Amino acid sequence: MTSSTVPSLRVGFVGLGAMGRPMAARLADVFPTKVYNRTTDVALSHQQQYGSVAVADLTDLGDVDVVCSCLPTDVEVAATAQALGPSLAPGTVWVDHTSGAPAGTRDVAAQLAERGVRYLDAPVSGGVDGADAGRLTVMVGGEAEDLEQVRAVLEAVAARIVHVGPIGAGMAVKAVNNAMLAASLWAAGEGLVTLTRAGVEASTALEVINGSSGRSFATEVLLPERALTRDFPLTFGLPLLAKDVGLAGSVTEEAGVDARVLRLVQELTEAAAEELGLDADHVELVRLLERAAGVELT
Ligand code: NDP
Repeated sequence: MTSSTVPSLRVGFVGLGAMGRPMAARLADVFPTKVYNRTTDVALSHQQQYGSVAVADLTDLGDVDVVCSCLPTDVEVAATAQALGPSLAPGTVWVDHTSGAPAGTRDVAAQLAERGVRYLDAPVSGGVDGADAGRLTVMVGGEAEDLEQVRAVLEAVAARIVHVGPIGAGMAVKAVNNAMLAASLWAAGEGLVTLTRAGVEASTALEVINGSSGRSFATEVLLPERALTRDFPLTFGLPLLAKDVGLAGSVTEEAGVDARVLRLVQELTEAAAEELGLDADHVELVRLLERAAGVELT
């Protein structure tokens, strides 16, 4: 695609949640962008704030060139594809930013392919801040030529775009990445709770750890900015992290790998999500460690 054809791409975006809302805002800056959300008021407020065009019915997205989705799981994507697919023209590309199951994703792709609609799994990392800044990382599964067709759309939301393999590969990388995030949160939480009980303040311990080899995104960003401040803002729900760690479990099983650490992380994260409920942010799993040890990280 030449740069002169890029602005003519018409984009439809489904799912204006914590991630979808800012992503669709970036797209509306560059492309004519229609937005659909299950709760229609959210789409209307997006239109008002960002100049997108809200639609109340999924089939109103039938005339777009690129459909982007950012929904909780591949199950909601499959339902959306079933409702919208028949309205899409052959050659439309569906870019799925959901973190879903590789197997479910391959089913969605096959279902769309029957109508000549192309599919890329394109889950993202970088959180709400990355989405706001248009600086996400996108891991793409699917055909290279489909990726080239929509590269300009991805560039509007991402600083890094990596083609990782065939359909489903993006979802696999995302699941494993998030399982590693959960592992580091649990390990850092346990480490800091232990040091607090041993008489070292968490903030002091982090001064050392963040200049040492034990550091991670959890120690450098998540724990100091969200746990030590006692803010715990809700940006990425703990149930979504538990879902991703569960998906990583399926990926390791399918690959025939005995991933014992990740299995334990899955068990802990699923139990934490159950205990803390639907509205807990992922960093709040640390509260359970604090509670059990009778300390607070400061
Ligand atoms: P949210 O819970 O904030 O938003 C979910 C969106 O999906 C909302 O627009 C919601 O609509 C819609 N939705 C929920 N259920 C249905 C349904 N049954 N049918 C139709 N629409 C539905 O999620 P996030 O934006 O946080 O996450 C979206 C995806 O991105 C997930 O797969 C997540 O794992 C992934 N992700 C999230 C990150 C984050 O930091 N939050 C970072 C990277 C990836 P409604 O407004 O009506 O509820």
